[in-house]
Amino acid sequence: MPKAQETVLEIDLSALKHNFEYLKSKLQKETKFLAVVKAFAYGNDADDIALYLQDLGVDYFAVAYTSEGVALRNAGITKPILVLHPLPVSFHTIIERCLEPSIYNWKVLNEFLEVATEKNQKHYPVHVKFNTGLNRLGFDLEDIETIHSKTNSTEAIHIKSIFSHLAASEDLKEKEFTEQQISTFKTITETFTKVFNYAPFLHLSNTSGILNYPEAHLDMVRSGIGLYGFGNSEEENKNFKPIAKLKSVISQIHRIEKGETVGYNRAYKSEEAITTATIPIGHADGIGRQYGQGKGFVIIDGKKAPIVGNVCMDMIMVNITGIDCEEGDEVIIFDGAHTAEDLANAANTISYELISAISQRVKRVIKK
Ligand SMILES: *Cc1c(COP(=O)(O)O)cnc(C)c1O
Repeated sequence: MPKAQETVLEIDLSALKHNFEYLKSKLQKETKFLAVVKAFAYGNDADDIALYLQDLGVDYFAVAYTSEGVALRNAGITKPILVLHPLPVSFHTIIERCLEPSIYNWKVLNEFLEVATEKNQKHYPVHVKFNTGLNRLGFDLEDIETIHSKTNSTEAIHIKSIFSHLAASEDLKEKEFTEQQISTFKTITETFTKVFNYAPFLHLSNTSGILNYPEAHLDMVRSGIGLYGFGNSEEENKNFKPIAKLKSVISQIHRIEKGETVGYNRAYKSEEAITTATIPIGHADGIGRQYGQGKGFVIIDGKKAPIVGNVCMDMIMVNITGIDCEEGDEVIIFDGAHTAEDLANAANTISYELISAISQRVKRVIKK
């Protein structure tokens, strides 16, 4: 049995390269690639991942919030960074750090124009977001004329791209809805080009859009989850390599007699004698309480050890009855074989949630 010392999230950059190259192989040569590195690159490690992807030749980065873009600039990212959900309070910082805002409603358009003008900007690059059915952020087709009249009289900003976001590109039962989104976006882009008399670049596809809707690749694609090793389907998962391995260690082993309870609220009552191992990872590290009560599990000596009782803030207890192991042995929470998606599914959630929740307390180790 391999030994371990602490809880570590190990990031394998060669797996990241594999995923990037697989996604690129789906694209036309001229299609640009935007890497979505919001939320610490989905909980992995934004700085090292973005720097590596910059070396591999990605064209663009995206983050959700301005502070994430600032962190990337501080880490040495020089490629353009799209901020998907900037809030007006951060517009000065956006311009100071050369970040490119998504403009998704009138308040954002008006306030960004004001700040760009006040800061004497000329043709500051912005990206206009349209809503085609996700109903989350974005303008509608009918807004194009007014966007034009508001921006036509100033040189402060330049609309570099227009984009939208697919709601269910991973779900082939929703093919008709996705095709409707693609067609709505096409109408929007044609109208925009007519009204503005130039063609900004266009982007619509996330990872599953890349895999399932080649006709929606347009000028650029935006991939997050695929880079980190998940294809959102059993078939596609085979083509990706999860980049992260989350491992920990057995801190202590207990024998629990029949009738005893384990953990807070005495949530587990043993009906037979079992052996448990206490592992130093809990809900403060991103393993939420939904993984407790036998739903979630870890892997010890290649075998599944289900979580017993409630997840604590800093620890879980798992059932190791019948598993040959001792204190100090390595514990796998997820890796390339026992994936974050399998674990997430066991608690009725998705890989995105599990991986992006791994908290900053967990030590990151980058494997070059
Ligand atoms: C998060 C996000 C993406 C990335 O989606 P994946 O499914 O992870 O590839 C792309 N576009 C927008 C607007 C997003 O918010």
